[in-house]
Parts: sequence; structure tokens; C-alpha cells
Amino acid sequence: MRSAILFDIDGTLLYARGVGRVAFGDAFLAAYGQPYPDVAGLCFVGATDSNVVRTMAAACGIASTPAREEHFFLRLAHDIDAALSLNKPHIYPGIPELVGRLVEHSHALGIITGNVRATAWSKLRHAGLDHAFTFGAYGDEHHDRSAIARIAVTRAPAGTAVRLMIGDTPLDVQAAKANGLKAVAVATGWVSAEELAAAGADLVLPDFSNTDACLALLESLL
Ligand SMILES: [Mg+2]
Repeated sequence: MRSAILFDIDGTLLYARGVGRVAFGDAFLAAYGQPYPDVAGLCFVGATDSNVVRTMAAACGIASTPAREEHFFLRLAHDIDAALSLNKPHIYPGIPELVGRLVEHSHALGIITGNVRATAWSKLRHAGLDHAFTFGAYGDEHHDRSAIARIAVTRAPAGTAVRLMIGDTPLDVQAAKANGLKAVAVATGWVSAEELAAAGADLVLPDFSNTDACLALLESLL
């Protein structure tokens, strides 16, 4: 059976240049009716969009209803897409080459992200990476990253099995382990290689700039 590999987006494939933080503030005002006082203090590292907006609502003493969340996610995705049209994401070194080679080697690539579905595909499209990914699970499907990974595993294309998950935080490592997957961590995001190793990753890489070496290491885990 062919292997499928799950990739996290932010900190792993690309950096969206902070457009999400601004969009979270604007979408919160639109959907919850009051400004969020500390947008600069929001933590997105390893977080899911569902969790972040519920934390924002709780901090403001507002109930986070499904209707408000839906409104928030739609506005968020719209604003992020508009911002990324003007300011393309930063793609980490070696990512287009690595992704291309994995596809050439007939591995199926999927997305596991805390981003809501529309935002995830917007970031991938603006980064020119959307063509490589054929399935995924997203931050509007569950607030917990391990549960999102579980959903992604069930969506692997017929004839493939997910064996590996690649992310940039200890929460990605935890989500991989919770689903019986090998965990690869890359230190291009906001967490050091030492912390990622301590979290129990099977492989920690500084980045994916050496395509041949990274490809061989990843395939040795499949
Ligand atoms: Mg990440």
C-alpha cells in the first residue's frame, strides 16, 4: 500500500507574515460585536482556530455560539485571502522541491492544520503548493489537534495509509503519537530543535533545504 504523509501548514510549509493576527481581530469584532483587547497577545503556536476564538470569547465574557463561530470563520478566511493576495506567504527553504519529490515518488500528501478549511487552502494556493495536496482535516472540524489528525487519517485516498506526520510544535508530535504515526518535527517555526526532540519526535530537522537528504530520511520512516 502506498504511504500518505500529513503536513502541518504554519511554521512547517510556510509563514503567512502575520496576516492571521490582524484578521483574527477584525473578524472577532465583526462576529462577536466587540473589539478584542489583546490581539498582539494571542498565541497561535500549535493552536487551532476554534480554540483561539473560543478563548477570545471567554476572555470577553461572550458565549461562543456555533453561529458566531461560523460568522467569524467566514470573515477570517475572507480577510486572510485578501491579505495574502497582496502579500504572498513566505515559503520555507526546500519546501516546493521536497513536496514535488514526494509526489513524484507516489506518496499521497495531506494537510493537518488548526486553520479553518478555507484559510488552509487559501494559504496553500497563494504559496503555489495546493496542487500537491489531495486531502486534509482542519481547525473548524475540531478544537483539538490530535482529533483533527484522526479525521485526516480517515480521509487518506483509497490504496494509501497515513504513516507520517510533519509539524513544527510539540502539539504536532503529540497528535502524531496519539494516532500511531511517526512524528517528524522541523524547527522552521517558533520552537527550537531541542524542544522538539524533547517532545519525542522520531526525527527533528532544522529545515528542509537539503532535498535529497530530507527525502531519504523521511522515506526511511515510512
Ligand atoms: Mg504549525
